[in-house]
Amino acid sequence: MVPHALLVAFPLQGHINPMMQLAWKLVSHGFLVTFLNSDSNHNRILKANTPNSLHDNIRMISVPFEFPVMDTLEGIANGMEALGKDMGPSVIDRVVREINARNEENKLTCIIADAWMCFGLQSVATLHKIPLAAFHTALTSFFAIYYFSPSLVSLGILASDGTPKKDKTVKFHSSMPALHSGDLPWLWAGEYMFRKGIRMAEEVKHIKWVLFNSFLEIEVPLVETLSKEVGVYPIGPLIPPEFLHSRTSTKVLPSFWKNDTECLQWLDKHYAHSVIYISFGSITVLSEKQVEELAMGMEATRRPFLWLLRPDLMKGSEAILPADFLERVRDRGCIVSWAPQLEVLSHPSIACFVTHCGWNSVQESITIGVPMLCWPYFADQFLNRTYVIDVWKLGLPLNANSEGIIEKGEFVKGLEILLESEQGLEIREEARKLKIIAFWSHCFVSGLSLSCREGPCFVSFCLLCPTST
Ligand code: UDP
Repeated sequence: MVPHALLVAFPLQGHINPMMQLAWKLVSHGFLVTFLNSDSNHNRILKANTPNSLHDNIRMISVPFEFPVMDTLEGIANGMEALGKDMGPSVIDRVVREINARNEENKLTCIIADAWMCFGLQSVATLHKIPLAAFHTALTSFFAIYYFSPSLVSLGILASDGTPKKDKTVKFHSSMPALHSGDLPWLWAGEYMFRKGIRMAEEVKHIKWVLFNSFLEIEVPLVETLSKEVGVYPIGPLIPPEFLHSRTSTKVLPSFWKNDTECLQWLDKHYAHSVIYISFGSITVLSEKQVEELAMGMEATRRPFLWLLRPDLMKGSEAILPADFLERVRDRGCIVSWAPQLEVLSHPSIACFVTHCGWNSVQESITIGVPMLCWPYFADQFLNRTYVIDVWKLGLPLNANSEGIIEKGEFVKGLEILLESEQGLEIREEARKLKIIAFWSHCFVSGLSLSCREGPCFVSFCLLCPTST
């Protein structure tokens, strides 16, 4: 029997991308994959991508759901509750029955659901006598923060709504770096997300397979600690191996926006390690003042830059750039809405990445060996910045002024240090070293060097999945 996995994605770009990379990996191990998305995302993806660029062996299906506007605390809670209902256990149960009725020969043999989509799913998997795996698309430490939070509440370090009792750093476990109290991942969304995260960790810890889009070497002490209590399987980096060798790939991630590939030809015209790459992922919103400071900063650096400026990067309007800016930087600036980031990052002309520290962006940058200037926006991005700067030494911070704006001079200074100073040289050397480690980790989880270490691995999941429950 061919193993057949139902992949249940959390309906955001930053969750769909690693889930699709997992799908590619499963297909390369002989799996059939059915990929479940919300229909609003499904339609956006179909509109933005040419049909042939999506994947023959992966069947994309969808169920009705669209996030409502989530710009208030109440809106966030309502959106998450609606998701739990519209893409929750009873819907997944129906989807499993429909798939199995249509595929007598190739019934589903497992479900892999985003960790934030696992609520109540174990009973569905048990009902259909197939195993369930949770897939956490972020750092293992992000999960660990929620996992360890109840004990911090008991110790009086966190209030019961997740607010730190004192304005200082918080350490969730001795194997993790301390986080500044203002950097806790739920603060943007308040008590609801704190409680939701704790419930997610509680739900997931009972699932036999908890896959993480991270790799062991970057979180060794934590993974070792956690794996005594939870079935932790760091299976990253999941990016396709093509990007580790060259930048050409037939694989296209299912993007919500149309990819601009002309910027790759623009990159071809530049010297190796000369171009600053700037991108804020799929959610970040910036103020007009911030966009202006960034534009002026790029103008002042006198370096070539590629800026991914989403049409909805500025709240309520198309991004507004300073007057005549485009004309002034015409010879060395390229601004597009959305580009194939993996191809961009792996282009030889890229010197560094100005990033919002979304976990996918950070992991892609690590795997390709690009140093970072860090500018987190929300959720786990502050945690990711802490790791990039304090633990792995792969980048520098961009610091905001008292009004929360990163000024033009901060960009210029950060880029000078990163690209021209002794400290920058050390950071670039660390990036080079960790890229090699990421490569070997990738080979390991791809099954090329199974014997080189013991413990959890992706291949064992693939092999066991069809028969184990
Ligand atoms: N991405 C892309 N093109 C762009 C910007 C981003 O392909 O122009 C991809 C990027 O490679 C990553 C994902 O979108 O896989 C963004 O995820 P991340 O976790 O970095 O940020 P989020 O969008 O969740 O904030």
